[in-house]
Amino acid sequence: MNARHARYPFLGDARDAVEEAGVDLADVVANDDAVVERARERVTGALADGTVGDRARSDRIELLSYPVARVLVSVVDENVLVRKYAQAEADAAYDRFTADESDDSELKSVGGDDRLSRDELLAEFDLADHVHARRDGYDVDVPTYLLLSSSLRGDDWRLVNRALDDGRVPVSEPELDTLLREAIRGRIEDGLPLSVPDPIADAMEAPAVAVRDVLADMDLTREIDTVVPELFPPCMQHLLDQVQRGEHLPHHSRFAITSFLANIGLTTDEIVDIYKVNPGFGEEMTRYQTDHIQGDSSPTEYTAPSCATMKAYGDCTNPDDLCDAINHPLSYYEVKLDDEDDEDLEDWRERDDETAADADD
Ligand code: SF4
Repeated sequence: MNARHARYPFLGDARDAVEEAGVDLADVVANDDAVVERARERVTGALADGTVGDRARSDRIELLSYPVARVLVSVVDENVLVRKYAQAEADAAYDRFTADESDDSELKSVGGDDRLSRDELLAEFDLADHVHARRDGYDVDVPTYLLLSSSLRGDDWRLVNRALDDGRVPVSEPELDTLLREAIRGRIEDGLPLSVPDPIADAMEAPAVAVRDVLADMDLTREIDTVVPELFPPCMQHLLDQVQRGEHLPHHSRFAITSFLANIGLTTDEIVDIYKVNPGFGEEMTRYQTDHIQGDSSPTEYTAPSCATMKAYGDCTNPDDLCDAINHPLSYYEVKLDDEDDEDLEDWRERDDETAADADD
């Protein structure tokens, strides 16, 4: 285990180094407090400020804290956590490799240090045959470009806005680095949440409680208490349209939209108001169903169905580019709210408040 493994723990050779050292993860989580603490820092930092915290002085602790952090994320098992954790790890890696690339110090030229070059990253992700250097940047094969840019926001990344050159997309050096960050993020997110054996999950209970506390305290309300139908995923916009057009919804569709509205913070009264325009609306039934979903009249608070379930029931409608990057309608909405300017959200809130005040008059 060396310094480069510690700086870039997602690399294949870092994983090999952990395996070759015969590390028993169950033993580490049960007995190595320093590793578990650093793993907790990685995860809570990702939630709190989008960073993975300061590197541990020991390469061993730093490297092992990465697989332990993945276990911790899996034990807590929340979509928003997986997304924020993968983003924070990818951002940290991006900062390091772009600094490495611009560092011309002697250490770099003699090799054998802890740096990682752009070419090595391309090789790591099997991209070397699909990214071609040219004089003032790179050309990326279209399928590779589409794959790596699919989660990037901003019109500039859309293929229709790029100049194609012989089936390839010309990109600048910084743009290629952004695409590499996406490759890293994808690898980190891949497979999360892991299936964690019970003894390991039990040993991780204390840090998992700490992470859940941060999740509960953080301003997730900013993400979920703002109701902006324009930012709903296409499936939920469609279901909401159907409700408001007075169409009859099958039970699974009604459960999907009701649980989604409840999960983003609408009260039972607010949901009942939305359904009132529907002639097939039954207030009692809607109240009962919504209270049940909210956990008021049942021991469980229900979460809106995942994309896989929505697809299975035929409720996935008009998926767009962002849908390729998420696996839950709530994640779609969280990403959209994240992307929205705080100022715009403030406008939405004021609009909601005014609407509520008008309704009260
Ligand atoms: S992919 Fe998911 S979020 Fe997108 S429309 Fe389908 S169910 Fe909704």
